[in-house]
Amino acid sequence: MHDYDLIVIGGGAAGIFAAVVAAQQGLSVCVLEKRATLLSKVKVSGGGRCNVTHACFDPKAFAAHYPRGSKELLGPLHRFGSQQTIDWFAQHGVELKSEEDGRMFPITNQSETIIQCLLKQASVHKVEIRLPVHILQIEPGFRVHLENKVVSAPSLLLATGSASEGYAWAQQFGHTLASPVPSLFTLNCPSSRLLSLSGICVQDARLSVEGHMQRGALLLTHFGFSGPAALKLSAWAARSLHDKQYHASISVDWLPQETIAQTTQKLLDLKQQHPHKFLSNLNWTDLSKRLWDALIDTSQYLQQLPDRQLIRLSESLHRDIFLMEGKTTHKEEFVTCGGVKCEEIDFRTMQSFRMPGLYFAGEILNIDGVTGGFNFQNAWTTAWIAASSIKKD
Ligand SMILES: Cc1cc2nc3c(=O)[nH]c(=O)nc-3n(C[C@H](O)[C@H](O)[C@H](O)COP(=O)(O)OP(=O)(O)OC[C@H]3O[C@@H](n4cnc5c(N)ncnc54)[C@H](O)[C@@H]3O)c2cc1C
Repeated sequence: MHDYDLIVIGGGAAGIFAAVVAAQQGLSVCVLEKRATLLSKVKVSGGGRCNVTHACFDPKAFAAHYPRGSKELLGPLHRFGSQQTIDWFAQHGVELKSEEDGRMFPITNQSETIIQCLLKQASVHKVEIRLPVHILQIEPGFRVHLENKVVSAPSLLLATGSASEGYAWAQQFGHTLASPVPSLFTLNCPSSRLLSLSGICVQDARLSVEGHMQRGALLLTHFGFSGPAALKLSAWAARSLHDKQYHASISVDWLPQETIAQTTQKLLDLKQQHPHKFLSNLNWTDLSKRLWDALIDTSQYLQQLPDRQLIRLSESLHRDIFLMEGKTTHKEEFVTCGGVKCEEIDFRTMQSFRMPGLYFAGEILNIDGVTGGFNFQNAWTTAWIAASSIKKD
């Protein structure tokens, strides 16, 4: 005789959502959380606004935003993707809105709205929450030993995010891990000549490193680069940058809208048309004047610049090299690349192939997305699939 139908370990987005969905289907559920509060990452997410999901409604296009896990998530996204997330929150009183770039937030612009919604449903459906708890041991079957109590259930969901204890339990039950390394971090280029331009945002730049390329808004910072293009690049190159101990050449294309040949031609034309002007005074791109002054020679009239120098300039505007020297030490890592290997899990149910009754959801899996709401969607999707698969004993 078990105490519950389902024990969920971890009271983050994946754990609480799974607990609520399972309880709504009539299961008795207990959540064990080691901290004194639930949903702590939801609280701080999206700058306190919680970027819940992304306004992209084609599962294949949605899945393409995951450097790891894209193939495995495709089927689950067909069953519970961004539209189902929007509908679920709407049915429970929370309206989401999308911004120009596709990110979706609660209309209140407050992550607290999401937290209150989930906690209210947990309470209505009598999810039992125990916190803070220290889990000493988990026996198959499953019996979870707390400091002064043992709780049991036939199904156990591990939703411990990137915590080492969760990984250890997964290994105890026969799983293997893709080694966890950081993803979604800013790029540390301390010898960049642009550090004094901190705060300038370039709307459209293309970054490449280690055979990966990303295009989008780029923010110049006092340590290197941030903004969507830099963060996305860090996600796709997370593993190779880690293997190189974050020492690599980053190439920036400041004018990705055109080719090197087109830029060269423009420069040569400008020289003909304005021989007595400084290039920096000619407003021929969208880049800010301060950035231009740092990128190009401002001391000579165009007619003083030989054509071969203009050709070189064109090349360097498309391939400006910066050295990444170690990882930033800020606590801005948003997700972990690595975790429980996807091939060891049945994505139709989120049940382990190694241990019947064991389920996984969220960031504990070797799945991570780029910025934009994709990481929470992984949590909602895998949690929903797991919760919908677990039946009463
Ligand atoms: C600052 C920040 C901002 C972010 N913003 C966004 C955003 O706007 N949009 C987006 O899509 N993603 C965002 N992310 C990523 C997103 O927060 C994660 O992908 C998501 O929280 C993963 O959910 P999870 O439930 O799998 O893990 P977590 O949220 O990490 O939850 C795991 C839970 O398990 C608990 N736990 C761990 N070990 C134990 C144990 N031994 N016993 C009991 N409990 C345990 C933890 O305390 C925690 O509560 C952000 C991340 C950060 C750090």
